[in-house]
Amino acid sequence: VAARSSESTNSGTTQQVDVAVVGAGFAGLYLLHRLRKAGFSAVVIEEAGDVGGTWYWNRYPGARCDIQTIDYSYTFDPELESAWQWSEKYATQPEILRYLGFVADRYDLRRDIRFRTKVTAANWDQSAERWQLTTDNDTSISCRYYIMATGCLSAPKPPEIDGVKDFKGEIYFTGRWPHDEVKLAGKRIAVIGTGSSGIQSIPLIAEQAEHLTVFQRTPNFAMPAHNGAAPADRLAMLEGDRAGYREQARWSLAGVPYPQQMAVSWQLSDAERRERFEQAWATGDLVYILTQLWADQGVDVDGNALLADLIREKIRTIVKDPETAEALTPHDHPFGAKRPCLDTNYYATYNRSNVTLVNLRQEPITEITASGITTDKRTFDVDMIVFATGFDAMTGAIRAVHPITGRDGKSLSDVWADGPQTYLGLTVAGFPNLFMITGPGSPSVLSNMTVSIEQHVDWVVDRLAAMREAGFTTIDATETAQAGWARHMADCSMITLHRLANTWYTGANVPGKAQGVMPYTGGVGPYRSICNEVVGRGMLGFRLS
Ligand code: FAD
Repeated sequence: VAARSSESTNSGTTQQVDVAVVGAGFAGLYLLHRLRKAGFSAVVIEEAGDVGGTWYWNRYPGARCDIQTIDYSYTFDPELESAWQWSEKYATQPEILRYLGFVADRYDLRRDIRFRTKVTAANWDQSAERWQLTTDNDTSISCRYYIMATGCLSAPKPPEIDGVKDFKGEIYFTGRWPHDEVKLAGKRIAVIGTGSSGIQSIPLIAEQAEHLTVFQRTPNFAMPAHNGAAPADRLAMLEGDRAGYREQARWSLAGVPYPQQMAVSWQLSDAERRERFEQAWATGDLVYILTQLWADQGVDVDGNALLADLIREKIRTIVKDPETAEALTPHDHPFGAKRPCLDTNYYATYNRSNVTLVNLRQEPITEITASGITTDKRTFDVDMIVFATGFDAMTGAIRAVHPITGRDGKSLSDVWADGPQTYLGLTVAGFPNLFMITGPGSPSVLSNMTVSIEQHVDWVVDRLAAMREAGFTTIDATETAQAGWARHMADCSMITLHRLANTWYTGANVPGKAQGVMPYTGGVGPYRSICNEVVGRGMLGFRLS
């Protein structure tokens, strides 16, 4: 497709483009490809030294995806799909990073990406109808459209513990793991945090450490990944009808093609439920166990408890020390209301003689000292501390660009003071021509994110192209539409169990953050229908000019 309205020029140190994209992960790379094909001039700004986003930063031992890789891939180009073969059911971080590098090469994307550049502020210039972006080096960007593909899990949460600076040993963050090898062998290591990154890395760190002490605040549900080759039945489904399989994923609830489960828990006998559960446990498929056992598991506390109890039984069977098993067993949230994890030998790792679990609910950390970690009961001398403490999810990277100033000098941090407000998770009223990919209000982290990312990117780029055809230069959500989306989000949350857990989905992991379920809980397929309906009804809820 020939470039049509390209206006990429450098005036002084300001680069003029149609569209500026921030972030070069799955979302930013696809955006650049689509924008170019649609004839827009575009630049991508990326803080990291290369493409990859999540998979550039999260290099910790054991880092992998937990949606099967045949599903966790781009689907926009069948030729790309046949040019790449995944080696495992759940690919490792290095393989996913290689894949994203392969995609960048294949579509020659790097030439329009500015690496090692961070966008620090963004200002809407009403008279020019353009965004002015400030960066941490001496360049700035002027763009008609500003798209934040900054990631949901890309702003690591700073540790909330006093004394981190005093520690004389090595400190690492799973979300900012170094590129050079970290020597773990023979060291006394502390891991703080038992979310997904902790659960993936703890078994591998334990294999090498002289001693590993795990500091746990909230236990998580995890199930074995049973990694290996991609399962033959899923692969056969995909290869038998690739287009059909992908289309089914796009209209599914979680972005992976599984049918809606119809049987409810009380229609099944204990034996039937156990049989379904054992089969799911042996499958090692998170989406399967989250959606396929019985229909009420995600919406009814009793239906959910039946499943949670079966998982708790597994934990007690695997972990030999009853006190450790109890500490590892979640009781404070329904299964699935907090992101469950996939593991490889996680619970069994606590049977090793060189591993200690510290339950922070019973003995909180009081400080980090020069030599280690002190709780209100004990002191642990360590050589290394690994913070697996997660992210300021969904809004952290967006709010880190500060200020973002929209129409009439409105600041995004003021508008979001009581929690994020969006229309469709893609736009914010009063911030014309600003889009977010997998922002709060999108199915994002409750879905296979590659499916959500492709849907958002296609929707946004198609809208920009349609506006250009029609002669419009600005798009802004109305306050009414935004309030309606908030209402719909709340209604959807009320009929799931997400509201019953304090998690990073709700902002509970970050002190002082406004609370509320941030991702859209209505499902990927219904969300797609709504976005399509908005277009079909003349851009319902948007003001174009
Ligand atoms: P990211 O990959 O996060 O990329 C955003 C980029 O924006 C980053 O490179 C960041 O440096 C850059 N950036 C942010 N702010 C600025 C700024 N101000 N200036 C310049 N650059 C900036 N999802 C799944 O669906 N399935 C999985 O199995 C899965 N596994 C995961 C495992 C881990 C360990 C983690 C952390 C996340 C996982 N996720 C998974 C979620 C994952 O984040 C998404 O799947 C996907 O990679 C997000 O892509 P993205 O392009 O939206 O954002």
